[in-house]
Amino acid sequence: MARGEFALIDRHFRAVGALRGDVVLGVGDDGAILRPPPDHDLVAVSDTLVEDVHFPRGAAPRSIGHRALAVNLSDIAAMGATPAWSLLSLTLPAAEDDWLAEFATGYASLARAHDVALVGGDTTRGPLVVGVQVLGFLPRGRGLRRAGARPGDRIFVSGTPGDAAAGLALLQARLSASAAPEQAAELRERFEFPAPRVALGRALLMIASACIDISDGLQGDLAKLATASGCAAHLELERLPISAALAAIHDAEAATRSALTGGDDYELLFTVPPAHWPAIEALRGTVGMPRIAEIGVLREGEGVVLTRDGCPVPQAHAGFDHFA
Ligand code: ADP
Ligand code: MG
Repeated sequence: MARGEFALIDRHFRAVGALRGDVVLGVGDDGAILRPPPDHDLVAVSDTLVEDVHFPRGAAPRSIGHRALAVNLSDIAAMGATPAWSLLSLTLPAAEDDWLAEFATGYASLARAHDVALVGGDTTRGPLVVGVQVLGFLPRGRGLRRAGARPGDRIFVSGTPGDAAAGLALLQARLSASAAPEQAAELRERFEFPAPRVALGRALLMIASACIDISDGLQGDLAKLATASGCAAHLELERLPISAALAAIHDAEAATRSALTGGDDYELLFTVPPAHWPAIEALRGTVGMPRIAEIGVLREGEGVVLTRDGCPVPQAHAGFDHFA
């Protein structure tokens, strides 16, 4: 990479690189040397953001920096793990100082908030692509998986799914904000700066039977969990948590569709056996936890069954799939 680009990245990321004592050797050599804590397993995740696919052309660089890390922290959260280290592979069409500074601000402030050190990466020229890897820890032998849910377990979701998809539609002016400008700003914020549910995931390690993060839409990601667990997921539509902001810009049907099939929420979708339902009540009273809604139950069978007030309803189309 060019000296100028690296100097800029180095300047903006230096503080985040020096965050943790378990980084034996960070940015600047051919590789990083990292020291995992004893009696833990390493968890590795990787997610890439491509311009025009995962964010619109001209998106705010601070948002791109935030989201590139947030989507990875969301995967770490869905495993019940604690994030520690990150790697950043940047492909840039040009070295634009102001853009890079803003991008770095978005990445670094989220990294600092979660005590994640940037320990290396790669910088190349080409169409805008941001690849991130995050490494984290789990107590040895533990971890939340998509498999593990049993018939009788209740299904829960954090936050208010559907908001981010509406936020993206507003950013792209596919949806009008004129009727409710404050609510529209809130929804745009939910797309641009999602909050990865790391504390919730860690708390769920002792509570949940299965967990997945919602990146491609609640319904599609619930189907993945149900398949992995060998169960049917009965999703009770009347229980879907619809935010006031979403309700302000959509009618009830469009809001439900957004909550079911909208992507980019980065909330946690998880199942809890009856013995642990009281623990969910306790979590709900804990400061710093997102809203947690109970949205259905697992039964014998397969796939996702949508119900309203106990009666089956026809399937809406499934979540976003790159290869569909
Ligand atoms: P090499 O040619 O050995 O791969 P580079 O010049 O690509 O070396 O990288 C030098 C150092 O800078 C390495 O430690 C690498 O991890 C780090 N680095 C390069 N790009 C980034 C980036 N975008 N973010 C963080 N660290 C980076
Ligand atoms: Mg090298």
